[in-house]
Amino acid sequence: MISPARLPVVIKRLERRYGRPEWQPRFSPAEELVFTILSQNTTDANAARSLAALKQRHPRWRDVAAAPVGGIAAAIRSGGLAGAKARYIKGALEGIIRDKGGLSFKFLETMGNGEAIHYLTSFTGVGVKTAACVLLFALGRPVMPVDTHVFRVAKRLGLLEAKATRESAHRILGAITPADDVYSFHVNLVRHGRRVCKAGRPLCGSCAVEPLCPSSRKT
Ligand code: SF4
Repeated sequence: MISPARLPVVIKRLERRYGRPEWQPRFSPAEELVFTILSQNTTDANAARSLAALKQRHPRWRDVAAAPVGGIAAAIRSGGLAGAKARYIKGALEGIIRDKGGLSFKFLETMGNGEAIHYLTSFTGVGVKTAACVLLFALGRPVMPVDTHVFRVAKRLGLLEAKATRESAHRILGAITPADDVYSFHVNLVRHGRRVCKAGRPLCGSCAVEPLCPSSRKT
């Protein structure tokens, strides 16, 4: 395991390689929630296509909440698992309107991160990663989503034990990452996982954090 004290060095090295991304909201919280559900088991490009088709059919999120599951599923068909995703989207949007009176997500301002995650994950199909994406990407809160790249790279770097689960990874990485660095570290772990620390064959010879990595296969 890497000592958490060395984490700032990892973050800096990744920023030197990939830049320090500055947070800005990519979607509203409702749109981020829907997009992240749509991105389950498919690529971001497919999810974006499904999102555009859904918005074309139902321009307001409260219309999506009121639409029949079959209609939502028909709009998002190209992204796969359309029936399940349609149920998750409708259930979450309907539930938030029922509980909070609308979809502004202002209610999250009065909730701590743990409480917000607990509330959002109370809806079927909304996991910790989805809730964390809403909080980080739409609201700029220091919550670490753990996707397949973050999980793999953090394990290889020794930031997580081999037996860590996605859920425990979310807690551990959130606890050891300085709040100001969560966005940058998340984005750069994903970039690093896609470009260098790939699932099949990591390119350790061109890795910016190789000297710190206990899993290096550099020869
Ligand atoms: S040294 Fe290899 S295994 Fe370690 S982070 Fe870099 S690419 Fe991944």
